[in-house]
Amino acid sequence: MMPDPQGDMPPEEFREEGRRLVDWLTDYFQWSLDNPVLSRLRPGAIRAALPADAPEEGEAFERILEDFDRVLVPGLTQWNHPGYFAYFPCGFSTPGALADFLSTAVSQQAMLWRTSPAATELEEVVLAWLRQALGLPEEFEGVIYDTASTAVVHALATARHARAPEVRTHGLAGRGPGAFRVYCSEHAHSSVDKAVITLGLGHDNLRRIPADAEYRLRPDLLAAAIEEDRRAGHLPLAVVATVGTTSVTSVDPVPSIAELCARENLWLHVDAAYAGAAAILPECRWAIDGMDRADSFVVNPHKWMFTPFDLSAFYCRRMDLLRAAFGLTPEYLKTSETSEVRNLMDTGFQLGRRFRALKLWVVMRYFGLQGIRTRLREHLRLARLFADWVDRDPGFERVAPVPFSVVCFRAVPRGVGERGGEALNAFNERLLNALNDTGEVFLSHTSLGGRYVIRLAVGNIRTTEVEIRRAWDRLRGLADELQRGSTPPSVPPRASRSGGSGT
Ligand SMILES: *Cc1c(COP(=O)(O)O)cnc(C)c1O
Repeated sequence: MMPDPQGDMPPEEFREEGRRLVDWLTDYFQWSLDNPVLSRLRPGAIRAALPADAPEEGEAFERILEDFDRVLVPGLTQWNHPGYFAYFPCGFSTPGALADFLSTAVSQQAMLWRTSPAATELEEVVLAWLRQALGLPEEFEGVIYDTASTAVVHALATARHARAPEVRTHGLAGRGPGAFRVYCSEHAHSSVDKAVITLGLGHDNLRRIPADAEYRLRPDLLAAAIEEDRRAGHLPLAVVATVGTTSVTSVDPVPSIAELCARENLWLHVDAAYAGAAAILPECRWAIDGMDRADSFVVNPHKWMFTPFDLSAFYCRRMDLLRAAFGLTPEYLKTSETSEVRNLMDTGFQLGRRFRALKLWVVMRYFGLQGIRTRLREHLRLARLFADWVDRDPGFERVAPVPFSVVCFRAVPRGVGERGGEALNAFNERLLNALNDTGEVFLSHTSLGGRYVIRLAVGNIRTTEVEIRRAWDRLRGLADELQRGSTPPSVPPRASRSGGSGT
């Protein structure tokens, strides 16, 4: 069918193409199981396969989907593959994907209550559900952002507004002496750096505080840094504590940090982007101890709560201050109901917002809190199982505790260099590359105290013990081969979905 000269796709065509799309996706999920997690394409291959100019004449949807299959599918990194263990997993579930489609199709843009009462009020309800499920204090009001990176910018901007509201009008330049200082652990996420850069606070004014042997921020060193800064005439502003650091998922001692922040009058933002979801399990509630004294908190259901990217839940004890920092209503956005409703444009620098709450609502309802807990518990079990295999094998060592679903480890084969040495790092890097080249799994790495460390992050809804075991079997086999000096088998091609030659 070709497009009409006027208007949208005709309803009957939409019905047909919509069904075709769901059929296609159902097959794709099955296909994906037997195909490499990582794309085999060389940089530039996708660009080269596509025309440089947009078509002058419209094309049939079916043809476009065929090209998606033929040209773009080979360039998809399969985040929803059950063997995906890299970085942090991307929240995914098919009910969540359906909800995202629904949200787009009903085309809501929730800048004002009036522009979407449903999106505005559902966001309030679903964030209250999540707050209760995680056991966060009632005083926290929530708002949905795209990412935790956006959340930390808002947290620090609100902290700055609390301390120096005049900055909103005059900027930082006219403030005179004394720079605002922000503190986080050496293991905090790079989004904290980007937030201080974005806000014009200056990268030099972010102090990364050393961590203890288990990678947790040291409150004694934090206290010393704050005191040193005060003596130097700086203005300590905020601390970002991490619950579930990106490299090793360590948990900063939030209760002691909160006490220090209360004493020093500093804003405390808790970054629980990945691990915050674990608080839905009573046995993991300890992870958010100290939240009764934090000022703001972020958790990403798009990381470990089966909600497709992007959905970051930000909670703030002083949402009034956040609104004061960002509220601005030009004439054309004034509405008569403003005093009775929330207008989401007031809770951040963005005007327009997608109807993200819908997918979290669907995920929470479809699986239920029990269903989510069962799945998270299984991920914790799989991570512990893998950690146990590592611990029992003299050819491997675990390099960090496993509080959640991430295992940090490395190979320590006999005869390959000393334990701190470059040879061992190089061995582990080769091992990881060989493992990822199998296409069966995808793991990533980090560096801890000069050691090259392999990370296995469990969190995909489709992951089972089969993939965990496969990762472990391959790791052991490849480590043996590398140690004996034989080259691992070459990379198999990825099958084309459309039946042509592999790419
Ligand atoms: C992933 C992560 C972030 C950044 O998340 P985005 O939502 O992609 O911005 C921030 N902090 C921690 C601890 C993370 O793990």
